[in-house]
Amino acid sequence: MTVTTRFAPSPTGHLHVGNVRTALHNWLWARKHGGRFLLRIDDTDLERSKEEYVAGIRADLNWLGLDVDGEVRQSMRFALYEAEFEKLKAAGRVYACYETPEELEIRRKILLSRGLPPVYERKPEGAPAPEGVAPHWRFRLDHDAPIEWTDLIRGPQHFEPRTMSDPVVRRADGSWLYLLPSVIDDIAMGISHVVRGEDHVSNTAAQVQMFAALGAAPPAFAHEALLVGTEGKLSKRLGSLGMDALRERGIEPIALAALLARLGTSDPVEPVTDMAPLIAGIDFARFGRAPARFDEAELALLGQKILHHTDYAAVADRLPAAIDAARWNAIRPNLATVAEAADWVAVFDGPFVPPAADAVDRPVLAAAAKAAPGIDWGADPWHALTAAAKAATGAKGRALFLPLRRALTARDHGPDMAELLPLIAKEEAIARLAAAGGS
Ligand code: GLU
Repeated sequence: MTVTTRFAPSPTGHLHVGNVRTALHNWLWARKHGGRFLLRIDDTDLERSKEEYVAGIRADLNWLGLDVDGEVRQSMRFALYEAEFEKLKAAGRVYACYETPEELEIRRKILLSRGLPPVYERKPEGAPAPEGVAPHWRFRLDHDAPIEWTDLIRGPQHFEPRTMSDPVVRRADGSWLYLLPSVIDDIAMGISHVVRGEDHVSNTAAQVQMFAALGAAPPAFAHEALLVGTEGKLSKRLGSLGMDALRERGIEPIALAALLARLGTSDPVEPVTDMAPLIAGIDFARFGRAPARFDEAELALLGQKILHHTDYAAVADRLPAAIDAARWNAIRPNLATVAEAADWVAVFDGPFVPPAADAVDRPVLAAAAKAAPGIDWGADPWHALTAAAKAATGAKGRALFLPLRRALTARDHGPDMAELLPLIAKEEAIARLAAAGGS
């Protein structure tokens, strides 16, 4: 059996980290088993589905590096659903219903007031159909077939169909609800593993019987605990947890993948630079039942850690031409995002606005300016420069290093000066020291 997974978003909005996490886990699982990862666009709701969102979903998957082995769209498969629906109808597994929402609500309240579970009550077979009313359709659960599966995350699951309402699968206007088309597609697409949020567990219970009714064995299921933000449940208002916002903030895709692959598992989040260890490490048995907490600060920190050992080749196409491999290696420990590398071009090549030096620092700066022209820039100019300034003034430690760092970079913090200084042209460095030293 080829492992085949799918990500099945409804294109009725933009993706957020919670959706993308599900997509990632499906992709990792397929890649780990040399299988296939499919994108299924659940656009049966023609009114709310938008092309703009479909494009956004594709772009987000592509950005994260989740290549798909195929894409299907539910809106192009209505003929298939119709044919399968007819089979189920002929077999008596779907049946027409005529209740209005108001009637159903009243029955529900009555049952609840009697302390009974609000389960849909089937009409007796052969009950007359009201005239001129288009029916909606329910799937007839088999009350004698207990529903069981061993969830890859939640373990053994058991549902009593008698305690469940027959689910509505088709509306009176002929449009489809999610449940049945999803099962028809999972069969047609050869899906071996359904990986999705635990909000679908009760859907799965009904769907297990739909697979059987359509003559197919159900796939394996993994229902993940939901992802929550630092302030609780991820809401429809995406805010900073929308994919657009994360991309705008310059988050690296691999940082997001590294975090989302491990959140909610008992494994540590690691600053990986490619997907290989995440693919090797995906294991549904490692996921817990408690909600996984997504923390933007943790993501930012992880992103920084990852940049610290990201090779030049991996980012070269996104760097200004002035940032070569040596310069990248020097500045990467100080970057929060790749885009910030642009801020360092002026530190290397100017234009440079010399900061005003404190009077106490002038002797150090003047001594360095005087020594600089005689220093071999190809050797270890920082060591030579500080040694000369120290010998001339007696300054040491912070009093020696900080004024020089400021004069040469206009910053108080930054990369190791021994690594940085050889990457600033000698004449440029001399000019900066001279300007700061007042000579
Ligand atoms: N379109 C459904 C959703 O977004 C798909 C659920 C599933 O994976 O089956 O919730």
